[in-house]
Amino acid sequence: MKTASMIALVSLLISSNSFSNEHGHSLGSHEHGSIQVGIAIEGSSAEIDIDGPAESFLGFEYAPKTSKEKKIFKDFQTKWTQNLESMIAFDKQLNCKVTEASFEQEVEKEEVESKTKANEKKESGVHSDIEAKAKITCAKNISGSMLTISLKKVFKNIKKLTVEVVGADTKKVEITQAVQSFKI
Ligand SMILES: [Zn+2]
Repeated sequence: MKTASMIALVSLLISSNSFSNEHGHSLGSHEHGSIQVGIAIEGSSAEIDIDGPAESFLGFEYAPKTSKEKKIFKDFQTKWTQNLESMIAFDKQLNCKVTEASFEQEVEKEEVESKTKANEKKESGVHSDIEAKAKITCAKNISGSMLTISLKKVFKNIKKLTVEVVGADTKKVEITQAVQSFKI
């Protein structure tokens, strides 16, 4: 009984929190231009997780409509899934391989948007997030090696970029350059 009510309480807290973000809709933290990258390292493997406004990646937040917009999405998706090292590169000596990668657009649900409109008339249009994930397996231990982040070079609309590394050493690094390396 106790466990069940705790779960109910936690999910209530999560849902009320997600409704009180900048745009007042169901997406997580959603501030245009502001992107957080999470990298979890365990021995010789790593998991990368990016969740941020689609505007920073695509230049728009609605689902791609025109062939040009579809191409923009597809090109970035291909880049993420097939050429991740052009954005997030581990030390070559580690001999890392991407074992899983996904790049998806999550458009907010319409029912939530109509609720939002009632409360916040000035906010118009659809918002969406990009959820990009990747799993990496290397031949050697990752901890202590250099990581190179080129996300700002690829996605020009990213203004504030923070990388949080969780592993043997946990750190938060602010990426200010188009290409920036730091020790992980
Ligand atoms: Zn938005």
